[in-house]
Amino acid sequence: MTTAATLSMLGVLRRVVQEVNGAADFFEALHIIVTRVRAALDIDVCSIYLKSPRSGRLVLMASEGLREESVGEVEMDVSEGLVGLVASRAEPINLENAPDHPRYRYFPETGEERFLSFLGVPIIQQRKLLGVLVVQHHEARRFDDEHVSFLITLGAQLAGAITQAEFTDEIASETPQISHVNVEATGIAGAPGVAIGRAVVAYRLAQLDSIPDREARDIDQELARFTAAVTATRGEIEDLKRRTEQVLPAEERILFDAYLMLLGSDSLVHRTEARIRAGQWAAGALRDTVRESVRVFEDMEDAYLRERAADIRDLGRRVLSHLLPDEGSDQEFPDGGILVGEDLTASHLAEVPIERLGAIVSARGTGSSHIAILARALSVPAVMGVADLPVSRLEDREVLVDGYRGRLYVNPGPELRAEFRRLVREERELEEGLRELALEPAATRDGRAVPVLANSGLLADIKPSLNSGAEGVGLYRTEVPFMIRDRFPGEEEQVEIYRQILASFDPMPVTLRTLDVGGDKALPYFPVQEDNPFLGWRGIRLTLDHPEIFLTQLRAMLKASREHPNLQILFPMITTLEELKEALVLLNRARDELLDEGFLIPMPRVGAMVEVPAAVYLVETLARRVDFLSVGTNDLVQYLLAVDRNNARVANLYDTLHPASIRALELIAEGARRAGKPVSVCGEMASDPAAIILLLGMGIDSLSVSVSAIARVKWVIRSFSTDRAEALLAQCRLLENPGQIRSLLNNALVQAGLGGLVRAGKN
Ligand code: PEP
Ligand code: MG
Repeated sequence: MTTAATLSMLGVLRRVVQEVNGAADFFEALHIIVTRVRAALDIDVCSIYLKSPRSGRLVLMASEGLREESVGEVEMDVSEGLVGLVASRAEPINLENAPDHPRYRYFPETGEERFLSFLGVPIIQQRKLLGVLVVQHHEARRFDDEHVSFLITLGAQLAGAITQAEFTDEIASETPQISHVNVEATGIAGAPGVAIGRAVVAYRLAQLDSIPDREARDIDQELARFTAAVTATRGEIEDLKRRTEQVLPAEERILFDAYLMLLGSDSLVHRTEARIRAGQWAAGALRDTVRESVRVFEDMEDAYLRERAADIRDLGRRVLSHLLPDEGSDQEFPDGGILVGEDLTASHLAEVPIERLGAIVSARGTGSSHIAILARALSVPAVMGVADLPVSRLEDREVLVDGYRGRLYVNPGPELRAEFRRLVREERELEEGLRELALEPAATRDGRAVPVLANSGLLADIKPSLNSGAEGVGLYRTEVPFMIRDRFPGEEEQVEIYRQILASFDPMPVTLRTLDVGGDKALPYFPVQEDNPFLGWRGIRLTLDHPEIFLTQLRAMLKASREHPNLQILFPMITTLEELKEALVLLNRARDELLDEGFLIPMPRVGAMVEVPAAVYLVETLARRVDFLSVGTNDLVQYLLAVDRNNARVANLYDTLHPASIRALELIAEGARRAGKPVSVCGEMASDPAAIILLLGMGIDSLSVSVSAIARVKWVIRSFSTDRAEALLAQCRLLENPGQIRSLLNNALVQAGLGGLVRAGKN
């Protein structure tokens, strides 16, 4: 194939995918695929067979070229026919003369005897077969390599769109047929618990695609709001045009005229108004009109006109920003509401009344994402990484969240609802049974104390931490109060935050970790754009580069400890000895400044986090410079295994019981022991019952976990002796894969009478 032909194939591919993404429903999406592909490849037939989730059979769902009446009728098992062969082999099959093949099966209703050549490629997503894409031609000829790779590429790109369109179609059905009840979506377990509630979609300001569907409460009012937003946008653009007169060449400023023209055009304004009249709220109506226009432009052959699609999107965002400011505030968050979003972050949490929050569902992220960690701290169930979730279509739908297995059900039926009510009850009973135990100190059967402390980050969760049996705060993530503001908090503001938490736990220790932003924790007012944020400017790297921010925070921590000497300070993301030394120099400087100002403040205990593999190998050297170490297994495991803790696609590879992570923890425990310093584990591994046995065997001194996990963690500690934990650790050292290690430890939990804590998943 020539370069020009390849380029045009790429163009076709891009356009088909875009059109499919914008299709109104699932069947339109399928129709677009088969018609476009048949035309682009100049062949007789293009068909799509999809695997039915219920019967497991391959059903002909759309075809251009086969008889219309066969669609929805023809179906086969994966052991039947050529389509079944493509599905079971999960690879393309390209035949010059299909009827000669022993697996050929003739379906009279399709009329396909006229077609000799056959090419089928599987449609696969995350190792799961969704269906088969087939092209056929009357001549006996093998399809060339370019055709094969075109279809493979198309199949791979369409898999996500097909899943999403299928899901949207099922939940959007107005008639509650049996098949549309309990529509299930699979994600990753984020925080344990189950919940039933109404979905509330979190959308970021001025992001068109995340605007949810919502019924207009007052059509006239919505129309007026839309007109006002268009007028305001027009004023803004005219203003821009005037201000750029001296700076931009005339041809660049034509863009503003184009914007003004579009704003006055029939298409954008009138079609949006029509949608509002049909019952959508203004933002949702605008979203649909913009999508529609974008599709028209993207479809154009002319490259210049295609570029205009971006302008329409930009214009849409501008109008939207005038529409939204007063929205949201009057939008009541329902009791037990389920917060649903494309990529939820801690700042989204700050916007909802926590006491009414029933559960969290995020299309992106994993159980190690910070929002999931916060959900656990708040005892709110969470499901993460629900790929292809049509977020904007979920607004106000009844949703059932299973945070244990990472499942989401839309329109739950009565049986499923009853089943979950039972689960909630059992859960509550277990909690109540453990309540007394939570208040006991944590010690192994042979009497070794292994204090269990709380991880915290929100002022709102101090109270629950106090009553939860926590023996202090092992990790206070100070970035959280930074994230929920619109500027850096000042020194006195910080003093107040830290003072409250120190006072609440005094005399128990409270470990305040210095600012750990970067990675997936962005400050809205301090944007950092990086290709690999987890390998970039985060934690101590950023604060050492900004001593003014760091010193303010250290001074605030020290000042807050004036009446509460239970402060401990912890430095995150330490990778080199120099970083630790520099951080200590700044801490001493902050204290000296305060002494000069007349504040008598004792030096707090200082710790370093071990969460970068380099620190594992330097552990003894680092430990000699500080009073304690704290292992951040969330990051340590992500860096050791090279698995992004937020990436749902590789979440199955993230396993804290990987032999390498166990070995790393042993090295840390040994290094700390040689330096004579205590070591605690504050990552999520510390609340995994199976992993706790190993940590006890290694001689880890204390654990810091989400408040909701404290009672269970204490239960595990109190059920094992040091000898038994050491013996189990020795057995695990001989095992080579995480699955075997988990089952060995799960058996040990069952034997110790803790079967109720065994979970299939991992942390
Ligand atoms: C960790 O990395 O394990 C940790 C406790 O820190 P964070 O989850 O805040 O990165
Ligand atoms: Mg970390």
